[in-house]
Amino acid sequence: MDRGIGSAAVEGDALGDFRIVSEPYFRPVGNEVALFEAAFASRMPVMLKGPTGCGKTRFVDHMAWRLGRPLITVSCHEDMTASDLVGRYMLDADGTVWHDGPLTLAVRSGAICYLDEIVEARQDTTVVIHSLTDDRRILPLEKKNEVLKAHPDFHLVISYNPGYQSVLKDLKESTKQRFVAIAFSYPEEAVETEIVANEAGVDRPLAQTLVRIGHRARNLKGHGLEEGASTRMLINAGLLARRGIPIDEACEVALVLPITDDPDMRDALKSAVAACI
Ligand code: ADP
Repeated sequence: MDRGIGSAAVEGDALGDFRIVSEPYFRPVGNEVALFEAAFASRMPVMLKGPTGCGKTRFVDHMAWRLGRPLITVSCHEDMTASDLVGRYMLDADGTVWHDGPLTLAVRSGAICYLDEIVEARQDTTVVIHSLTDDRRILPLEKKNEVLKAHPDFHLVISYNPGYQSVLKDLKESTKQRFVAIAFSYPEEAVETEIVANEAGVDRPLAQTLVRIGHRARNLKGHGLEEGASTRMLINAGLLARRGIPIDEACEVALVLPITDDPDMRDALKSAVAACI
């Protein structure tokens, strides 16, 4: 469906699927909620920086709900093209018809667009966000010969895991400088215990044990482990334990085996588990 020219609104509730109706649980760790609200109010694009599984995506879900904006999330990957974000002409029964990509849909309709792991995409793809991140707030749809002015509520959020970056795979300096960055890391023990207990539905002592295991596993980072155990992995172990899997086995399948193939590292992680249970 051609959705019209310029900043014309999306008809009906085309964004119904992107609205978050019930509050996603998010336990703030610092001042991230106020920072995001201030950035949104100023329409400043936001970069969420931090390791995988530490709550960035959950935070965006929560903020979209809190601000009452639809959320369009795109998981970026290296085969993604600018057309995957912006849109393309496609053939259907009526002939050649333009289809908005997720970024265009968000720009047109005033949604929050969350580009998850942006650096996974090639630089010739990410360049399309440039004109959206400065005062112009426009998106050129080159193939359509149209320049789309962003809806006043459009907001761009990207996530970025500094640990994965290499010189080749990094955001351009000129792109980075257009964002405000909110730093995420794994929360302190008491807060992470609360999150694991809540998300896995386990009691506090078990959640605390899992968090202590997580801390030990994170200490092995840099000694052969690329990333330590994330909050997500601790929750996974908790979910298995809740279903009756013995805690050591739950930790092995959720915390140890997924992150290493190295027998020595596996033994080191297993002893970290054994020391805590
Ligand atoms: P990321 O996007 O950083 O890779 P996620 O947001 O997917 O990570 O977090 C992984 C899981 O950890 C979430 O699904 C959620 O269950 C839990 N989580 C992490 N941090 C928080 C937090 N502060 N509040 C609530 N849940 C959290």
